[in-house]
Amino acid sequence: MRIIVAGSGTSTGVPTLGCGCNVCTSRDPRDNRTRASILIQTDEHRNIVIDTGPDFRTQMLRYHIDSVDAVLFTHFHYDHVGGIDDLRPYSQRTEDPLPCYMNAQTFEEITRKMPYVNQSENYPNIPRLRFKILEEDDSHTPLCLNIAGIEFQPIRMVHVPSAEVFSTGFVIEKKFGYLTDFKHIFREDERFLYNLDVLYLGSPLDIEHPTHISHYEAFELFQKFQPRRAVVGHLSHQHSHERLLEKWKGIAEPAYDGMIF
Ligand SMILES: [Zn+2]
Ligand SMILES: [Zn+2]
Ligand SMILES: [Zn+2]
Repeated sequence: MRIIVAGSGTSTGVPTLGCGCNVCTSRDPRDNRTRASILIQTDEHRNIVIDTGPDFRTQMLRYHIDSVDAVLFTHFHYDHVGGIDDLRPYSQRTEDPLPCYMNAQTFEEITRKMPYVNQSENYPNIPRLRFKILEEDDSHTPLCLNIAGIEFQPIRMVHVPSAEVFSTGFVIEKKFGYLTDFKHIFREDERFLYNLDVLYLGSPLDIEHPTHISHYEAFELFQKFQPRRAVVGHLSHQHSHERLLEKWKGIAEPAYDGMIF
């Protein structure tokens, strides 16, 4: 299995439209941060993506992905679902509709905002998607998914406390934790996060933010969960890649588009 960071950027992407700052105008390709997504490739060449943001099509072209077998959605914000229509060519090439996993709120919001994606009887040319809501066991622990032989343990998180927006993180094969767009992790799900090979946390800024953890809060979580590699993504244009490498030396690694695990 390998994991490719398809997009390491925050909701605006970097460069940010209209911005002339030194990061947005940088020539370092690692400062070009597309919207947040990761791609999991199995040894049998099956592809699973987490989120299809507005840069999804560009990302799939960039990594020459000719099929997608399943999609996991973290939450319903545009920077994570805006590319959902671009699943159409992939979904038309598979025998069964393309399975898409998400929490109940994400399902409600996606189908409210884009009702046609779930109405194949009325719209004959839409992506053939099968929406699957993440299930919980009797003790309300989200059930582990097995997709193409790879285990995904969902992690419940609070993203926007004031609006009760929930996002879902995933621990892949008990090794790689991908948690983006959150302020708090459900305490009951923290047990899945200790001593991973990689813990990848989404955090755009080094200052307090109402809907994301700050870089310092990410470092506290790394201290707590003790991963072998600590990675921060969903990055803004606040700092260049070079600056982050220097600033975070010995603490964490900044993600970049094309980073491979
Ligand atoms: Zn986001
Ligand atoms: Zn900028
Ligand atoms: Zn978000």
